[in-house]
Amino acid sequence: MSAEHSPTRLAPWQAFASTVIVTWSGDGLPHVLAGPWADGRVHRTRHVITAFNPDGRDVDPEANAAANWRLIAELGAAGHRWEPAVGASPDADHHELGVVVDGLTRAEAVALGARHRQLAVFELDDERLIVVPCDRGPVSERDRNQRLAPMDITYDHLIAWRAEHEATTGDELDRLRCPSCEALDPARMLFGMPAGWPPDWLAVGGCVIGPDRPSYQCRTCGHRW
Ligand SMILES: [Zn+2]
Repeated sequence: MSAEHSPTRLAPWQAFASTVIVTWSGDGLPHVLAGPWADGRVHRTRHVITAFNPDGRDVDPEANAAANWRLIAELGAAGHRWEPAVGASPDADHHELGVVVDGLTRAEAVALGARHRQLAVFELDDERLIVVPCDRGPVSERDRNQRLAPMDITYDHLIAWRAEHEATTGDELDRLRCPSCEALDPARMLFGMPAGWPPDWLAVGGCVIGPDRPSYQCRTCGHRW
């Protein structure tokens, strides 16, 4: 999230009042989460987090790609469900890749953003896009489908941004995808005896020791790898 631009060229995570947020879900189709033609109800609280442009400073595309990969690797290792997302200015001149994550509390989302040196994270509910600063600054919000600027984002932009996301995350996706049923639905394996009932993104594997210990269990088919 970059803050160094003039007010007319704010990075999307900063110029939140007009940011358009798009995600790609399992069907591969883009869904507008915030902006004109935002999809209907989201049915749950979702958080949108970027690792781009840490500390509010623009960095080169390679550094942003590496930051995006680190964010996704962290989410994958923790077993969190995420989908690729992009936050863009309505004129399509500026975009930042990121993820939309389900199942986080606001505090967890802010902590994740802070670990990736972000100024703020987004929270979505049925009606609102809420910007939550990582430094405990004031929270602000707007209607999710508010149209505040002309929309120049085209389908070609979305295809290019999806490809950019895939280029940084392809290996990680392959590692997390079930080799048996190809679902992208991993639980991280937990060995030993847990103190309590684990969250559903952890799978208890008992006391297996050795080099063949699996890292993940598919939540769709149960396969371990
Ligand atoms: Zn599977």
